[in-house]
Amino acid sequence: MSTQECVFCKIAKKQLPAQIVYENKDFIAFLDINPVSKGHTLVIPKKHVTDFAGLVEEDKEFVYNYLLAVEETRKVLEKKYKPYGIRIGINTGSLIEVHHLHTHLVPVYK
Ligand SMILES: [Zn+2]
Repeated sequence: MSTQECVFCKIAKKQLPAQIVYENKDFIAFLDINPVSKGHTLVIPKKHVTDFAGLVEEDKEFVYNYLLAVEETRKVLEKKYKPYGIRIGINTGSLIEVHHLHTHLVPVYK
């Protein structure tokens, strides 16, 4: 899939609507359109990065900043939804539906 067709790139460029939860210069978080729980959110880099599996040593600053964006998003969800906890996950391999790196934040309720 080319970057131009990538649905997450389109969301990052605001060419497709999404319910944005958190955003900074390099990352954007938005509600999953098929949520497994209330507040299920995806955090993505605005630049097209295909897969977690391809990350290398040189990407460490990117990974660090990505984790900070995930943490900022977690705080927003914590405050808004008051969940029991939040499960944070990255799929790899055939579990991936959209091949643009994304981290799931899934609020868990009692
Ligand atoms: Zn993309």
